[in-house]
Amino acid sequence: MTMLLTIALSKGRIFQETLPLLAAAGILPVDDPETSRKLILDTNQPDVKLVIIRATDVPTYVQYGAADLGVAGKDVLIEHGGEGLYEPLDLNIARCRLMVAGHPDHRPQRSRPRIATKYPNTTRRYFADQGRQVEVIKLYGSMELAPLVGLADYIVDVVDTGNTLKANGLAPLEHIADISSRLIVNKAAMKMKHARIKTIIERMAAAVAA
Ligand code: AMP
Repeated sequence: MTMLLTIALSKGRIFQETLPLLAAAGILPVDDPETSRKLILDTNQPDVKLVIIRATDVPTYVQYGAADLGVAGKDVLIEHGGEGLYEPLDLNIARCRLMVAGHPDHRPQRSRPRIATKYPNTTRRYFADQGRQVEVIKLYGSMELAPLVGLADYIVDVVDTGNTLKANGLAPLEHIADISSRLIVNKAAMKMKHARIKTIIERMAAAVAA
């Protein structure tokens, strides 16, 4: 008897860059998530399904065992906290840096500078670890706008080329962490479906190294 194996992925860059690694593990999606409206995609293997969800939801699905495996950015994993998850493999894709950014000559007038971010937990911890008092404002998108309209003194966001910051007169100021996508595994699934998951990890690891 073979057990169903479910892999959680987000659309866009992570999906595109994960495809060749899944192919190396012999897993080929039947539908294209960019054009299909299906949330559960079949693969060439009848007992392997892909679920297509928001990037920030991937650790939650894997934590609760709704997916056995997933691919998530380290930024999302740090923010989630990683409970219930193994993180056996750095896929070395979707690389970027988590940064504090702002106007290079901005001098905050507030005693507790305001930081706008979609990473409130990570941001609080970063500043608290340095004994710096800040007020964190949670946003869901377009962080770069916040300093331009006076909502926040600084932002914490992922930066790749820095072009988005530059186009808005902002600059990266402090490096918090290097980011790349990781393979994550539900802890119970790692025990129950060990042989299959181990094979997938090994084949993906070989493809990453190649
Ligand atoms: P940049 O190349 O720095 O202008 O980044 C373009 C946009 O994509 C910015 O809004 C970044 O926050 C976002 N971004 C860049 N790299 C990543 C990544 N690896 N994962 C998620 N978002 C990213």
